[in-house]
Amino acid sequence: MEDKVIILRLTQYKESDAIVTAISSEGYVSFSARGIMKISSHNGALIQPFNELIVDLTEGKAGNVLKSASTIFTSEASLNQLEKMTALFLLGEITLSIIKEEEDAQKIFPFLEKAIQNIDKFDELSLVMLYLATAIKVAGFGPEVNQCVICGSKRKIVGFSFEEGGFICQNCAFESQIEQRSTHLLNMYRYAFKISPEDICRVSFAAKDNLLILSELNQYLSDSLGIKLKKYNDFISILQA
Ligand SMILES: [Zn+2]
Repeated sequence: MEDKVIILRLTQYKESDAIVTAISSEGYVSFSARGIMKISSHNGALIQPFNELIVDLTEGKAGNVLKSASTIFTSEASLNQLEKMTALFLLGEITLSIIKEEEDAQKIFPFLEKAIQNIDKFDELSLVMLYLATAIKVAGFGPEVNQCVICGSKRKIVGFSFEEGGFICQNCAFESQIEQRSTHLLNMYRYAFKISPEDICRVSFAAKDNLLILSELNQYLSDSLGIKLKKYNDFISILQA
């Protein structure tokens, strides 16, 4: 069977073989790839994280085995720049740690595909912020960004609270003592949780706004879902260096 996949992770076993974890429009795909850790391996040069490939797999006794691979898109250019490389590995970690269900993997695939194909020419901070928000939403933990989460009002939205679960109107913000946000930030929240795959590399936001929302998303992930992104701090410190 032939599949269009994005490679996410390689786990070496034996001397020169690897178990490959990839994602496709059908969900996660894993297969073993023999000999790809050898320097001389042709497939080894292709089977690298964040490359998009057509893989031809056969069903072996212990699961799928790689027969051949050909390139659709290579992330080599991005992997040669530290900020882009760290962003790519963070996108990979976000995918593998938040997206667990097969149908969620199918939904996130076009976003990841668009993000990876555009990361070398687009602002990686906006991309990572939007992708993290999308992953949280796809996994079923997205906040309410159409109306006040407390009373349902669509008017006078002035705040946002992950604790409450989304937008807060003026009355509820006053009663619950929730701080007000700028209209610009509220619009960013709405955008981040409503985008389609094409929108992930359309609008670039100011770094300080991205960093604020990203840190809130990361905090929410850790507090509410118990997921700690190991590469998050690397990414932030590289951007601020
Ligand atoms: Zn309200």
